[in-house]
Amino acid sequence: MMKDYLVLVNAESPLPSNYSPEPLKLVDAWQGIFLEKQTAEALSALLAKVDPDHLIQITSGFRSIREQVELYQTSMEENGLAYTNAYVAKPYCSEHHTGLAVDLSIKSGAVGEIAPDFQDHPVVEAFLKEMANFGFIMRYLPDEKTEITGISHEPWHFRYVGLPHSQRITEGGLVLEEYLEKAVIQ
Ligand SMILES: [Zn+2]
Repeated sequence: MMKDYLVLVNAESPLPSNYSPEPLKLVDAWQGIFLEKQTAEALSALLAKVDPDHLIQITSGFRSIREQVELYQTSMEENGLAYTNAYVAKPYCSEHHTGLAVDLSIKSGAVGEIAPDFQDHPVVEAFLKEMANFGFIMRYLPDEKTEITGISHEPWHFRYVGLPHSQRITEGGLVLEEYLEKAVIQ
C-alpha cells in the first residue's frame, strides 16, 4: 500500500476523528519518542551523516490526540492565546499526529518543549543543507509563509515528505500548501 507522505494537516485540513497513524518506530527509547517507520529510518540516516557527535536531540515526534489536547491547554494557561495560536496546533490539526513530523533541539531540550533551540549552530547548518536529500523539509517558514501555513516560523519543526518532493519544495522555497496546490495544477 502506498503511504501518503504528502498528507496535508493544518487548521483547515484536520485529520478525521477515526484517524490512525502509520506503523510507528521508537526513535528515542529513553524519552519514549516514536516516528512513522520510514521517517524514523530517514532521520537516523540523516543524523548519522550530519551529527556524528550527537549534538542534536529529538524533543517531539508522534503525538496522540490526547497529548495535543494537553499541550494546547497547558500552553494556553502558561503562554496565553496569541502565543498558543502562533505555535501550537489544535488537536486533529497537528502534523505530529501522523508520525511524519519531528522537533529538534541542539541543547538539552525537554520533551514536549514548544519552541526548542535549533538555530545558529554549525550542526544545524549541516542539517539544513542535507535534510532535503533525506526526504525532510522545514515545514513552517518565516515571513509571508506564516499566513499560508497558519503557524509562525518554527526553525525546529521538520516534516518528512520523501524524495523527490523534499528537494523540489526546499529548492523552490515553498511550504507544503503551495507545493500541493502547484501539483494539482500541473
Ligand atoms: Zn513540531
